[in-house]
Amino acid sequence: MRVVAPTAETIAEAAALLRQGQLVAFPTETVYGLGADATNERAVAAIFEAKGRPHFNPLISHVLDAAAARRFVEWNDTAEKLAARFWPGPLTMVLPRCKGSAISLLATAGLDTVAIRAPSHPVAQALIRAAGLPIAGPSANRSGAVSPTRAEHVIESLGDRVPLVLDGGPCLVGVESTVLDVSGPKPVLLRPGGATREAIEAAVGPIGISHALPSGDAARSSPGQLASHYAPARPVRLNATDVGADEGLLAFGPNPPAGAMLTYNLSPSGNLAEAAANLFAQMRALDRPGIARIAVMPIPETGLGLAINDRLRRAAADDGLHRRG
Ligand code: AMP
Ligand code: MG
Repeated sequence: MRVVAPTAETIAEAAALLRQGQLVAFPTETVYGLGADATNERAVAAIFEAKGRPHFNPLISHVLDAAAARRFVEWNDTAEKLAARFWPGPLTMVLPRCKGSAISLLATAGLDTVAIRAPSHPVAQALIRAAGLPIAGPSANRSGAVSPTRAEHVIESLGDRVPLVLDGGPCLVGVESTVLDVSGPKPVLLRPGGATREAIEAAVGPIGISHALPSGDAARSSPGQLASHYAPARPVRLNATDVGADEGLLAFGPNPPAGAMLTYNLSPSGNLAEAAANLFAQMRALDRPGIARIAVMPIPETGLGLAINDRLRRAAADDGLHRRG
């Protein structure tokens, strides 16, 4: 694997690899993506292989803007409003596949809908533009593990399974995109993420919620709903107001309890955007030998706190199936 700084040359090289059906890891504002040509079945199959995804879960296709999206999905008024407000940015819309859509059937796992988003990260945009393709891009990590927010995380998780990594530094948002099903009469939240429910409702009115399903049921409309999707190797204890000497503490706010073996603070000032940006890197840093458990302080359930708590609950709900050391 090669890790390179994004320049006009390396982006052109990455685009050429994508056009040849190869994989490239690239930064987005949410997390690092494992990119492939979304119109090439074999390239998309290589994503599933590199990630070790147990099932062919549908992938998000990344495009430059609403005009590009309309070539692949059936657009509607709600999508138009949401794109105007949130694109480019951390909102993925699930829309009906349009007639003649070139998106690979494997990328959508055979569904008649397509998950699509326009990322705001300049390197992601430059790569999409240079490749001239929609880019299928799940998080650039082995299936079930914590998502990568830095190039080092991609290297740790995927190693030589990806030939080229564009290192754009740490991801600014730090949690995955919000996935919103916009294919029906009322939008439904499938996965909370970087675009907040409050902001979405301010743009299009009340939305339905379907992500808070109990764990263990395989019949999900969105595999990101799997309970153990974001699991560190060590157990996670939520809503910790005290901490043991054998625990690593993931703190939030100005007054963390003392006595942990190791403490990281998501945001000493209690800022949820800062906490989201630090979440996965700090979870990884605490997920190390010698630490019995990761204790997590309570996080407010508003704004980005919804996505943060969703990922933390999944980390805590891990059923062992995806746990790796
Ligand atoms: P990831 O690629 O790891 O960020 O995950 C993509 C998320 O989008 C997962 O939660 C998928 O289940 C969801 N997703 C992708 N395509 C669809 C679709 N057509 N319908 C519903 N959810 C989807
Ligand atoms: Mg993922």
